[in-house]
Amino acid sequence: MAERAPKVLFVGTELSPFSKVGGLGDVMGSLPKALLQCGVDVRVVTPAWPGVLQKVRDAGYKIVTGLQHVTVACAWRTVEAIVHRVDDADGVPIYLLESEYYNGAMYPWEINAATVHPFMIFCLQALELSRVTEWEPDVFHCHDWPTAFLPCALAWHHHYHHFVKQDGTRPASVLTLHNVAHQGIFPPGPFFEESGLDRSCFNMGGIEFYGMINLLKGGILSATAITTVSPRYAWEIQTWESTEALSGVLYNRRDRLNGILNGLDVDYWNPATDPLLPECYSADSLDGKTACRRELLKNTGFDPEWKGPLVVSVSRLVEQKGFDIVLPALKQIETLGAKFIFLGSGHRWIEDALRDAAVLHRDSLCFFPGYNEPLAHLLYAGGDIYLMPSLFEPCGLSQMIAMRYGAVPVVREVGGLIDTVVDVDAEGGGNGFTFLTYDTQGMFWSLRRAIERFSNIRAWDKIRAKGMREDFSWEKSALLYRDLYRRILKEGG
Ligand code: ADP
Repeated sequence: MAERAPKVLFVGTELSPFSKVGGLGDVMGSLPKALLQCGVDVRVVTPAWPGVLQKVRDAGYKIVTGLQHVTVACAWRTVEAIVHRVDDADGVPIYLLESEYYNGAMYPWEINAATVHPFMIFCLQALELSRVTEWEPDVFHCHDWPTAFLPCALAWHHHYHHFVKQDGTRPASVLTLHNVAHQGIFPPGPFFEESGLDRSCFNMGGIEFYGMINLLKGGILSATAITTVSPRYAWEIQTWESTEALSGVLYNRRDRLNGILNGLDVDYWNPATDPLLPECYSADSLDGKTACRRELLKNTGFDPEWKGPLVVSVSRLVEQKGFDIVLPALKQIETLGAKFIFLGSGHRWIEDALRDAAVLHRDSLCFFPGYNEPLAHLLYAGGDIYLMPSLFEPCGLSQMIAMRYGAVPVVREVGGLIDTVVDVDAEGGGNGFTFLTYDTQGMFWSLRRAIERFSNIRAWDKIRAKGMREDFSWEKSALLYRDLYRRILKEGG
């Protein structure tokens, strides 16, 4: 008898292209499509943050509202959300929950019992959703600390501890760790009264973490299975150097931990069809890339006819992305014989330092502050070298996008960067330039190698073509997720 398709509800706080902050949004927007294609019955639920419904309408999708509400009880009150349904172009049903709780900024700067409230409510709403959709998930697939409360609720909530499907079986949960640096840690305060979790889970084997609440830890211990976004990261996070006190928790759960490399939405990130580029191109016909380069140079104020290497970066401006070693390097930027273009938003101190450096080195460095999707596409397309010297990198999508667009990556050997970039000087050749030690010299060593190699046109063409032809699609990884769902459902049955 053919196996029944697992029913999987993706529960996440970002969804590309409507509410994306980083790679988590990309995964929420692309993995479900790939799962649908390999026989998983998948749906998505996400909060309708400010502006999201309008963006969905602007993208030409029809929103069906039908006066449906989902109601959850939280402490002494009930909280309602309006359920909007959208069928995306690839046939994945998406539920957008509209509530007063999702009226503010997506992620709080300060984590405490009050600011995590919208995230707990969202998780409970996801559990209740089947009442209005009449579609019951076998698996709740959660993402990072903002939805780690869902598996905790299935394990320790006074009410949801008893949650069963209509057939009497319990749903499973998968928690994907996109970035363990953010865990949702805060003092308990009124947490137990508000959340409905039983206080007995406030211990080492539960949600307690050095006297605090740690939502991610709770999720890691209560989820049926845990995944990380690259095989290397799954290994790294079990070490003290990577995750300190949480490493022991992850090590103890290693039999439940799977490293599955993220894929890209290769339809969206495709230089041969990308509507955001002035001209399209492919590995076989690169004329369009030259046009993109010229357009990019025009936008920067650099000479549009500059023929030397263009080093680009599209990044959140946070410590993780290696700015501790990039910023000191900018002092010597003129010695490299390349031009640098940065696009990013994040910490003020990094933004200020890049702005100052761009004034000081105006012939070599251009900085675009902010989040800008069209400009990001132009940087990937117009760039020759993509700089990503991360301190840690759970998977990283930018280096894969860069390779697809013919910008050769210079990366640090860490996390998912190791799983996707092979040094050109390694045996058998590679698709980029790597370095190990986290310091400016290490990064310079690889950058100089890339810049030198750029002047050898034939060698450069070969490296670039190799990156452009890599298969970064979700195909292989989606099958691994499907097998994981099947496995955990079999175990549970
Ligand atoms: P992370 O999830 O840690 O931010 P990833 O490399 O996995 O890093 O994914 C980053 C995604 O966000 C990529 O699609 C990248 O192009 C995009 N991105 C990051 N910063 C910006 C920005 N300032 N403007 C436009 N896109 C950005």
